[in-house]
Formats: sequence, C-alpha cells, structure tokens
Amino acid sequence: MNLMNNVESDEIAKLKDVADEIKKSGKIAIFAHQNPDGDAYASSVGLGMALRKNGYEVSFYLGSSKQDFSPIIGMHEAFEENTSPIPEGTTALCVDCASRDYAANNEMFDKCERIIVVDHHATNTFYGDVNYVDSSAAACAEISYFLIKAMGYEITEDIAYALYLGLVTDTGSFQYSNTTIRTHYVAGVLSTIRRDFHKLHDELKYISMDTFLALSEAMNNTDFLFGGKLGIMSLTKEDENYWNSHVDTDGFVDHVRDIYGIRLAVFTKEIEENVHKVSMRAMDEVMNVSDFAARQGGGGHPKAAGFTFNGDIEGLHMMLAEYYEEEWTE
Ligand code: 5GP
Ligand code: MN
Repeated sequence: MNLMNNVESDEIAKLKDVADEIKKSGKIAIFAHQNPDGDAYASSVGLGMALRKNGYEVSFYLGSSKQDFSPIIGMHEAFEENTSPIPEGTTALCVDCASRDYAANNEMFDKCERIIVVDHHATNTFYGDVNYVDSSAAACAEISYFLIKAMGYEITEDIAYALYLGLVTDTGSFQYSNTTIRTHYVAGVLSTIRRDFHKLHDELKYISMDTFLALSEAMNNTDFLFGGKLGIMSLTKEDENYWNSHVDTDGFVDHVRDIYGIRLAVFTKEIEENVHKVSMRAMDEVMNVSDFAARQGGGGHPKAAGFTFNGDIEGLHMMLAEYYEEEWTE
C-alpha cells in the first residue's frame, strides 16, 4: 500500500487551518445546498455528529428535500425544517454548496458571525470568510472524513455510515469518473469501522410506489434529439403523479444517462408554474456542463450540473437543443 502511505497525512495537513477555524467556534449552524442530496446530508450529518460528540452546540439549517435519509443515517432533526433563530456568536459551516445563493436558508448567513465553506465544486465562488474547496474530491463527504481527522476526532460507526452515503451517492456507487484512489481509500477505511454497507446500498435502491409512477410519466415525456445523443426527460404541472408527496425525482436523470448512445442527459421538472429545475449529465469530457449551467445562474461539476429556468417547457427544450447544436456537434 505504498501508494496510500501519505494520503491521510497529506489531506490532514491541507485541512489543518480550516479544522482550527471550525474548532474556534462554540456554536455551529450547518448549511448545505438547496434541496440537499445524499452528499449534502452525509457531510452535514457526519460533521454535525463529530462536532456534537466533542462538545459543540450544533444546529442544522438544511432546508426541505423530498429525500429523507434519516431512517438510514439517523439525526432526524437534520431533515426537518428549522425556523429557530441563529444564536449570537454562531459560525455557519456550509458544506457541498458552490454559491451563497444556492445555499438553503442563506438569509440566515447574515445572522452568523462568520461563514466557513467546505466544498468540492469547481464552480465554488468562495463566499465564506474561510473557504476550503477541493474539486478533485468525488464527494464533500470525502473531504469531511479528512476534516474530522484533522480536527482530531474519532470517526464513530454512525459517522462512518453517514459519510459512506455521501461517497455512494456522488459517485454513483463508485462508478463515475470522479471516483479516485482517494475515494476508495476513504471507503476502505470506513469499511473497517462499519461492516454493513451492503444494507445502505440496498436501502438506496428502494423507491416509493409514487416515485415509480412519476418515473413512468417522466419516461413517457422523454424526447430524443440529434439521433438519440441528447435526451430530455421532463415532468411538468400536467403530470399528476409527480405532485404526489412521496415522489423523489433524484436519480431520474440517470435513466436517461444510462441509454446507449446518449451524450447529454437532461431531466427537467416544473417546480412552480413556468419555473423548471434542470439536471444535466454529460457522458464524455468534451463539454463541461457546469460552464453552461453557470451561464444560466446555476453550477455544479463538469459532468453533473444544474440550474433553474424561468419560462415555458417549449422554450427550455429549445434552449437545450440550441446548446447541444452549438457546442456539442462538431
Ligand atoms: P442535480 O442535477 O443532482 O440536482 O445537481 C448536480 C450538481 O449540480 C450538484 O453538484 C449540484 O450541487 C449542482 N447544482 C444543481 N443545481 C444547481 C444550481 O441551481 N446552482 C448551483 N450552483 N449548483 C447546482
Ligand atoms: Mn456533493
């Protein structure tokens, strides 16, 4: 394992300053990106558990999401809407979120004494007073592992389970190109702390009946353009199952991504009348979808990005087709 000898000490050294900054705070409010996904929760809950266990007063302001991972990783309060005022002298710790405006409950930042940002998005705008951004990390949970170690705290069984969730969701179970030796290293160490990650994989596979029905609607609403290279799956206010409270659309875009021949997979959902949340996945390195998403006011990673579009669904499809035609076709 020569390859891995210095990984732990190198990462801990890089994180020393941010670890010290976090440790200076007595009260910590944890924030993440809007509509938090597995990695946002994993990093929040993993760091929150470690800080609490070591005497910090920790609160969560993660905003609402259709995904409730609390039966899997615990810490139920992290998944609930928090309207409590921010106590004086609180530090905001914002994880997995590239920009201030994409953070859930970001209006609360103004009530915090300072903001510490820990993220892995290359599009991060360094909106904190202290910023640690490593875009080579597959997941923010990968950074969180080393950050907990840099603070000198133990990775308990519960923390290991939470962090593993973030690794799995952001790497598509270690299948995406963002997965590195370092990701496997962290997963390997976590596997020495917990022996039951197979259960987590099983639990992540389950979907509700409502989600299944909404997925079938979305599949019916999928357009293929440019000979099947661009696939756009959409849900709009017309789709009755989509509005069911147990529908979780995270992962719908992967069904388009999985189609043979697809280069650019898109999923769009109408979150309010004529307001669509767009998820993009690139299958090759030719184009960086986060550049396009950033031009629309969003962001993300080179192969997975998103933004919010204001307008009707036809206009959105036209814009995506133009983008493909102008930037993806030779
Ligand atoms: P998803 O498509 O799964 O919602 O998001 C893919 C990636 O793009 C994630 O890393 C997510 O943080 C980022 N992303 C999605 N929507 C937005 C957005 O509106 N603004 C920013 N800054 N990032 C986004
Ligand atoms: Mn992430």
